[in-house]
Amino acid sequence: MLIDTHCHIHEPDYPISFDEVNSNSTKAGVEKMICVGTSVESSRLAIDFANKYDNTYAAIGVHPHDAKDGCGDIRKLLSNNSSVVAVGEIGLDYYYEYSPRDVQKAVLRQQIQMAIGKDLPIIFHVREAFDDFWPIFDSYVSNGQRIRGVMHCFTDNAENAKKCLERGLYIGVGGFSTFVKDEEQKNIFKDIPLAKVLLETDAPFLTPVPFRGKINQPAFVREIAVYLANLRRVSLEEISVATTANARSLFNI
Ligand SMILES: [Zn+2]
Repeated sequence: MLIDTHCHIHEPDYPISFDEVNSNSTKAGVEKMICVGTSVESSRLAIDFANKYDNTYAAIGVHPHDAKDGCGDIRKLLSNNSSVVAVGEIGLDYYYEYSPRDVQKAVLRQQIQMAIGKDLPIIFHVREAFDDFWPIFDSYVSNGQRIRGVMHCFTDNAENAKKCLERGLYIGVGGFSTFVKDEEQKNIFKDIPLAKVLLETDAPFLTPVPFRGKINQPAFVREIAVYLANLRRVSLEEISVATTANARSLFNI
């Protein structure tokens, strides 16, 4: 059994029906999926989706792209909903920089506080912004507060992978790992302790090999698992057992 810990299939413009997503997932051995919000509205939809379908769960939060609109009702949504398993995706994105950096930082801090207050894990999105991210993260830890979570869709270097692991974060491995050419990055996916790996599709984005060009879907998490098994010379079974146990323990699902 496999779990897709990060997808956006709840969005209204996602082109594949849940019936089809679900039957493909079942065939591929993917039994659970976490629908991740990126704005207040998208978070609301993720909760509705998770309430409607048994094997789906919701993560809610405002993505750095949308930070300019503030966190709105996220706090309220968090206090009213038991189907929410994480805060996310939240973080800093200086690659696109759709929101000003100071606003991204402020909105990240507000949402980290909410997660700590609810004792929920966090799904982090950090792109080309680790130099500003680590001081924020570490300020909570040096205050004696505990942050649990995952660095979603990891595409950075070995040094930042090491920093994630030193801080107890899981590393989200997605379709990117199946087509990355850079040797240092390839080695990261080979070497992260299995006890710290979570699988994710980020559907509809980042479709793994051999389905490049198609719309991504949770069933394809199997391709990522197969790729990792080959890369690390272990069985598919070993990858499945470890990553599923990790997802269950982090998200309590
Ligand atoms: Zn995402």
